[in-house]
Amino acid sequence: MQTQSVEIVEVGPRDGYQGIGPFIPTETKIKFLEQLFRAGLRRIEIGSFVSSTAVPQLRDTREVLQWCAKLPDLQAQVLVPSERRGREAVDAGARRLVFVLSVSEAHNRNNVRRHPLESVGDYERLVAGIPAEIGMRLDIATAFDCPFAGRVPEAETTSLLDRLIPIRPDAEICLCDTTGRADPDHVGRLLSQAMQRFPNVTSWALHAHDTYGLGLANVYAGFRQGVRVFDASVGGLGGCPFAPGATGNVATEDLVWMFHRMGIATGIDIGPLVPLAREAANLPGALPGGRVRDAISASNERCRAQTPEQQVRA
Ligand code: ZN
Repeated sequence: MQTQSVEIVEVGPRDGYQGIGPFIPTETKIKFLEQLFRAGLRRIEIGSFVSSTAVPQLRDTREVLQWCAKLPDLQAQVLVPSERRGREAVDAGARRLVFVLSVSEAHNRNNVRRHPLESVGDYERLVAGIPAEIGMRLDIATAFDCPFAGRVPEAETTSLLDRLIPIRPDAEICLCDTTGRADPDHVGRLLSQAMQRFPNVTSWALHAHDTYGLGLANVYAGFRQGVRVFDASVGGLGGCPFAPGATGNVATEDLVWMFHRMGIATGIDIGPLVPLAREAANLPGALPGGRVRDAISASNERCRAQTPEQQVRA
């Protein structure tokens, strides 16, 4: 029997960093990317092409992207919110784009100042204007819940997908729990409806936030439905802009731990990942989350502090 596996997409350098105030020097970002790569992460969202006034932390995405060319096995993806930014990213050398739009009109207007259907038009023009070999993923923000409008009905999400999927049928579809308020039943239900309705989608992904402590439960619900691509952020970096003080993305090390306990391969070595997660959690201005980092660090310390005899008794 073949071992099952999942792909974990590291989004810390984008979703995690973007809420951090003090600018993280470009060389620190690059060193982190190198270490994440060494720990086994092969797909990393390294930044976004957005207004540097709105997101000053990611103003060096272009330089970081250029550096990524040094690691040919690294699949570096960048987030873009419009046709214009998408073209800019491709001109700067991006090979994989993540086009983001929201199901909720209020959230889309807040994020990108336009109606979701205007974003669909933008996406269509972008797809028509770039080479077909550029990898494409759609990040469907507020697929479950909106900070302004509350719970998003499943039908609203699937009807937006009705318009989006035919534009580029091979795009990966990532359902994003922007607020962290989805629950495992909701995740399972929406995915099951969407997968039945769009059986030809080649890859489904889930972007879970752990704001209310349901991140891992939601990931597991997604896994049970057949999702094999999951976003996560090292150290659980990534605050929620709509709930100041609340922690953000589900932690990469928590996902790796859970899947490995379940006997599912991730290709990631949790040994070097944990010290890296500690480093990420200690970045000035960071708001870390997750549990496994502290649990593993504490148990390593205890083992070092104890004599062999104490370890036997413990
Ligand atoms: Zn997010």
